[in-house]
Amino acid sequence: YTAKTRRTGFTVFEPGQGSTDPRKLSLAADLRHGMARDELTLHYQPKVDARTGDVLGAEALVRWQHPEHGMIPPSEFIPLAEHTGLITPLTRIVLDSALRQCRAWRDEGHQLSVAVNVSAHGLLDRDLATEVADRLRRWRVPAHLLTIEITETAIMTDPGRALQVVEQLHALGVRLSIDDFGTGYSSLAYLKNLPVHELKIDRSFVSCMTTSHRDAVIVRSTVELGRNLGLRVVAEGVEDDATWRALEAAGCDVVQGYLISRPVPPAEFSAWLHHRGSAAPVAVAN
Ligand code: C2E
Ligand code: MG
Ligand code: MG
Ligand code: MG
Repeated sequence: YTAKTRRTGFTVFEPGQGSTDPRKLSLAADLRHGMARDELTLHYQPKVDARTGDVLGAEALVRWQHPEHGMIPPSEFIPLAEHTGLITPLTRIVLDSALRQCRAWRDEGHQLSVAVNVSAHGLLDRDLATEVADRLRRWRVPAHLLTIEITETAIMTDPGRALQVVEQLHALGVRLSIDDFGTGYSSLAYLKNLPVHELKIDRSFVSCMTTSHRDAVIVRSTVELGRNLGLRVVAEGVEDDATWRALEAAGCDVVQGYLISRPVPPAEFSAWLHHRGSAAPVAVAN
C-alpha cells in the first residue's frame, strides 16, 4: 500500500493559502512524490510505566528521508503537508504503518500499544474514523491498543467537526491523548468536553522541573488534575534520572524521553525491547 494507490482528490496548492517560497513549493511537490515512493518512515519511542519501567507501548514519529536533502524532521514537513492537503494521505500512511508495526510486535510476543500523532487538518478528515476502523481490521489490532495523540491547536481549527471525528474514534474504542498539554490555550475546556483517556504534559515543563520551582508546581498540579479526572498522565521529554524520580513521586503514570530511548527505527526498537526484557502485560496498559 502506498499513497499512489489511492485517489486523494486534493489539489496540491490552494491559491492564496500555499507558500510562494520556491524551496517550499518544490519541497511540497517532493513530498507528494516521496510519499508515493515510500520515503516516509516511522521511528518509535517507548512509553514506559513510571513506577516499574515496563514498556507499555511506543509513539510513532514520522521521518522523511529526502533523496537530496537527507532526513527532514516533521517540524518542517508536517506544516507543509497541512497547507497543501497532503496531511490526509500522510496520516493514513502513518496509521497503516504504525498498526502494521503493532501487529509485528504482537507476532514477536510483545503486547504493546502504539500511538500516532494527528494534527490540525488530519483531525478534520471526516473519513478518519472509517479509515482507522479499516486499518485496525486489516492488521487485526484491538482498538484499545491504538492511541491518537491530538494537539490542542488541532481542535481549535474547527471545534465542531473535530469533536465529531473525536467522538467517532472514541466510539471505536481508540484511545485519545491530549499532546503537549499546557501549551495551547483553553486546555481545561478540552478536558471538560472531549472523551480523553490520556494527558501528555509538554516537554517544556518536564525538562525544567528539577531546576525550576514553578515548572515543578505546574507538573505536579497537572498530574493531580489528570489523575483526579481518571486520566493516564504521561510526561514527555524525560532526560535524566532526577526528573524521572520527581515524576514518579508526583504520581505520574508514564514517562517518555531520551533517558529511556530516543525515537529509533523499527529494527532498533525491537532490539532494544529484546535487550530490555519482556514487555508489561496488556492489562497494565490500562
Ligand atoms: P510530539 O508528538 O510532542 O513528539 C515529541 C517530540 O519530542 C519528538 O520530536 C521527539 O523526538 C522529541 N523528544 C522525545 N523525547 C525527547 C527528550 O527527552 N528530549 C528532547 N529534547 N526531545 C524529545 P519529533 O520526532 O521531531 O516530532 C516533532 C513533532 O512533530 C511531534 O511532537 C508531533 O507533533 C509532530 N509529528 C511527528 N510525527 C507526526 C506524524 O506522524 N503526524 C503528525 N501529524 N505529526 C507528527
Ligand atoms: Mg506526540
Ligand atoms: Mg508532545
Ligand atoms: Mg510536541
